[in-house]
Amino acid sequence: MRLIDIYQKVLNLENLTKDEAISLYIDAPTSELTFLAHELRKIHKNDDKKVGWIIDRNVNITNVCIAQCKFCNFCRKPNDPDSYITSLEQYIEKIDEMYKIGGRQLLLQGGLHPDLSLNFYVNLFKQLKSLYPDLKLNALSPAEIVHISKKENLNYSEVLSKLNEAGLDSLPGAGAEILSDRVRAIVSPAKCTATQWADVMRAAHLINLPTSATMMFGFIETLNERIDHLILLRDIQAEKPKNNFGFVTFIPWTYQPENTKLQNLYPDLKKASAIEYIRTVAISRIILNNIQNIQTSWLTVGKDIAQITLYGGANDFGSIMIEENVVSAAGAKYSFDKEQIQKSIKEAGFVPLQRNQKYEFIEQ
Ligand code: SF4
Repeated sequence: MRLIDIYQKVLNLENLTKDEAISLYIDAPTSELTFLAHELRKIHKNDDKKVGWIIDRNVNITNVCIAQCKFCNFCRKPNDPDSYITSLEQYIEKIDEMYKIGGRQLLLQGGLHPDLSLNFYVNLFKQLKSLYPDLKLNALSPAEIVHISKKENLNYSEVLSKLNEAGLDSLPGAGAEILSDRVRAIVSPAKCTATQWADVMRAAHLINLPTSATMMFGFIETLNERIDHLILLRDIQAEKPKNNFGFVTFIPWTYQPENTKLQNLYPDLKKASAIEYIRTVAISRIILNNIQNIQTSWLTVGKDIAQITLYGGANDFGSIMIEENVVSAAGAKYSFDKEQIQKSIKEAGFVPLQRNQKYEFIEQ
């Protein structure tokens, strides 16, 4: 198909086939690719100016993880001297700090701890919700749900329902990296498979638990595998019950290599370039025409590139992330406070609006 015909298909809001998406990514000039993505953002959001942002705090439940992914500098083995499980007192201190600056959402993530049961998470969520009734818990990930399901011999739906009843408000899409079992066998063989990741999300969508979709790219995956990843996300979203949340956003970020085992195995691996990030955000908006929000990743690519992506498909600047330990441990060095994030959005020519974890604006 000629490039011009693919452009027309995109603007007609038709799903691209894999071959069409690959041709578009390879052949379209960046200005045209980002133009198309920006047009779709205008159509899907019915707006071309508002950019969402949120105050939240990323707290790690534990740094113990049996998966030991090769790109992860954060995880520890159970008996490592610096391994930890966050205590209730520590949560209270961190949540109080977040409340003082207006945040109401905790992003709770951790590792696959061999000893933490479903009851541990249920009790934790209940305790936090009884102490802070208006707190929103955006917690765990499909990898942890698969781990807990195996440990408890329960299906994903049962685990998610119990966590949801205990206070889980939404499920982050972390741990997707690239949804290809070839890639996962090399970089994270002990983590959930691509099919398991997808099945957890399907189960979450059936009980109307909002989720997010992510992609970490720019390491050993091929372009084919990236496009397959995006098409799989589009397919999962298409299966959700019509009025349920499903994936409320898609967040692509770049692999951070610093001092990871993967860097030792593949010393020639180069981080994705600025142009690659900008083009990937754009092709994501184009393929994922059934996911409303595309969040740019200032944490991994920096303010300037993140600003450019607002003209190429992205409509959300993400969180000020009061505390982030996982990506930072592999070299991401950027940070924002709430004034700086709004200033950056304005500087790029957009209107910053604070939102909640469902991507609903809480100011107009
Ligand atoms: S990326 Fe997540 S699952 Fe993998 S080792 Fe690190 S904490 Fe564990």
